[in-house]
Amino acid sequence: MGVVSKIRRLVLGRSKISNDFLDALEEVLISSDVGVNTTIKIIEGIQKRVSKEKYFDEIELRKILADEIVSILPDDIPMFGDSQTLPKVALVVGVNGVGKTTTIGKLAHRYTSENKRVVLGAADTFRVAAIDQLQIWAERTSCTIIKQQHGSDPASVAYDTVKSGLSKNADVILIDTAGRLHNKLNLMNELAKMGNVIKNIIPDAPHEVLLVLDGSTGQNALEQAKQFSEATNVTALAITKLDGTARGGTVIGISDQMNIPIKFIGVGEGIHDLQKFDKYNFVKTLLT
Ligand code: GDP
Repeated sequence: MGVVSKIRRLVLGRSKISNDFLDALEEVLISSDVGVNTTIKIIEGIQKRVSKEKYFDEIELRKILADEIVSILPDDIPMFGDSQTLPKVALVVGVNGVGKTTTIGKLAHRYTSENKRVVLGAADTFRVAAIDQLQIWAERTSCTIIKQQHGSDPASVAYDTVKSGLSKNADVILIDTAGRLHNKLNLMNELAKMGNVIKNIIPDAPHEVLLVLDGSTGQNALEQAKQFSEATNVTALAITKLDGTARGGTVIGISDQMNIPIKFIGVGEGIHDLQKFDKYNFVKTLLT
């Protein structure tokens, strides 16, 4: 059941913001995967905002809730911020299956549609299928792909990719990486090495470390966000698989807890199914 249906049910037969009501609202938010800490923050915010025993209706409650959620989410910042240097470089991280390759493909499509030159780097050299999958997206979006053999050094692929991007006057370079969370020290070293190699070519790059999370996995996604943040400096989030699920609550919890801006959401498997994250729109959609 989605948040809206739960709220509708919650409000039925009630017309005052009482302690009892706030307890029930807390349950609704937690069961919608908002997470305990963020839920408490929202409830406390509502308590400050509205006086007890106030009469309200469902629409009013949704508005109060929307205002409160918007106020706790970090402000939207566009991908790559306002750095002026070109090419822009993003390292894309995340565990297998979350939709990392698909998100890179959708991003490549977005940028090529804006007439930007895109180069993809297949630095997930650990998984055999990863290079092939990225190759398919490169063909689909008519982008250059830089790859080496399965098992080769990811930092070497990153080096080749950035060098190639520079020589081709690329606008955007998207580098896929292997997300081996079970081996955090390796992951940390690998990402640090890639970062250093890239910095040697373009000092202020990578301009973005984009973590891709599967929004349908609830608190699991939050756990991954924490782990990746310990392994590297994650600067942006892309949350996938928000189509057809009632899991929008996850987004609120992750963004609040991690204080990392969400830049994109994935809403399907197709090439167009990537939306720029807009917190006002998102909360509006979640609560209407
Ligand atoms: P990776 O292992 O992280 O690179 O994951 P993939 O990009 O291969 O995606 C794993 C599966 O999730 C594929 O079947 C994708 O089509 C699917 N997928 C990716 N993003 C989305 C999304 O936003 N919505 C839905 N419904 N499926 C998605």
